[in-house]
Amino acid sequence: MAEPLYGTPQPHGPPLGPLSPPLVRSSTSAQPDSESLRLVGSAESASDFYQRLGHSCGRAFESLVAALEGADGAVSFSSGMAAMSAALLAHCKSGDRVLLAEEIYGGTSAFALHDLVRFGVAVDRFSALDLAGLRKALQRPTRLVVFETPINPTLRLADISAIASAARGAGATTVFDGTFAPPPIQSALRHGVDLVVHSATKFFGGHSDVLAGVVAGSHAMLRPIEALRRRTGGILAPDPAWLLLRSWPTLRLRIEAQQAAALAIARELVADVAEKRLVAVSHPGLPQHPDHALMRRQMTGGGCLVSVEVHGGLPGARAVFDRLARIAKAPSLGGVETLATLPAFTTHAGLSAAERARAGIPDGLMRIAVGLEGVDVLLADLRQAIAGGAGPG
Ligand code: PLP
Repeated sequence: MAEPLYGTPQPHGPPLGPLSPPLVRSSTSAQPDSESLRLVGSAESASDFYQRLGHSCGRAFESLVAALEGADGAVSFSSGMAAMSAALLAHCKSGDRVLLAEEIYGGTSAFALHDLVRFGVAVDRFSALDLAGLRKALQRPTRLVVFETPINPTLRLADISAIASAARGAGATTVFDGTFAPPPIQSALRHGVDLVVHSATKFFGGHSDVLAGVVAGSHAMLRPIEALRRRTGGILAPDPAWLLLRSWPTLRLRIEAQQAAALAIARELVADVAEKRLVAVSHPGLPQHPDHALMRRQMTGGGCLVSVEVHGGLPGARAVFDRLARIAKAPSLGGVETLATLPAFTTHAGLSAAERARAGIPDGLMRIAVGLEGVDVLLADLRQAIAGGAGPG
């Protein structure tokens, strides 16, 4: 992967002039005369004419994402859900059938099951961990296959190439949520998916201070998405786009450091499992992880999350969680701050305990999105919380 991609917000050539890109907040741009107005008003391509149609910071961010993903282009949105809903809306119509992974972000399934269905789209579920089941489901005409990996919060992995090729063989388009492991960890387009969506709120922002989303893919796949964005207006605003450009040069360094820390913590916690202080620890980088071989095929590492199952079910998980002193108790991931969350209370609160158990999500599960505080600091906090002792000073 080309080094400058991460080192400068200007992907083409050495930076000239200000190193930090100018932030243009003006929603509209004055034109010198009627001919100029006619030209910009009729332009099909994005211009700085009116910011719902496009602006310089947004386009700079989009070209960086496109280069990073090896895509023709990218289209940015005001949130990950704005990006995902636009990708789905733009690529299906009444009468179509969408196959939606059971193991998908709750916001995506809520949108598909509440909104897509209102427009006459049939939404059927499949397990991204069951290829035979997917192939069977694809025997019926299917417009879209929607999935993600690593799977939240179990950190099991779905086989991207196998799912993409099964879908392609059946004439379906794949929409992949790459939020949990953006490049350089995982490059889904290179594994054959048609569209990759990211909540840029996570790793691309990286500092828990921006809400954004982006879709990358071929020009043909992006054209209807960009057109829909013009009509629905969910474009990323200039200020968050500027923050994303500010975060870009450290993306690779942050991800590599967070990923290395996650693996180091998971390795240490294996001993806590052996000594019965924890029920289980999950991280795809651990050789004993059920999908470790797949991780080595489709990821450069195990990602930046670790899930632990504590003793005592939900009460046990609540007690450990409440004792965390250094690790912030918050949903989300991908930022420099380490965050812990209880899926039973957040992403999977809508399921009963029995449904969660069937999905492999025990109520004692706590998800940790590893940041940059340092392995020793984080382990000390986790261990005091697990042991039930006093918090670190
Ligand atoms: N996809 C995944 C996997 C997520 O975790 C999230 C948010 O947590 C989203 C999409 C939605 O992103 P946003 O909150 O930026 O709308």
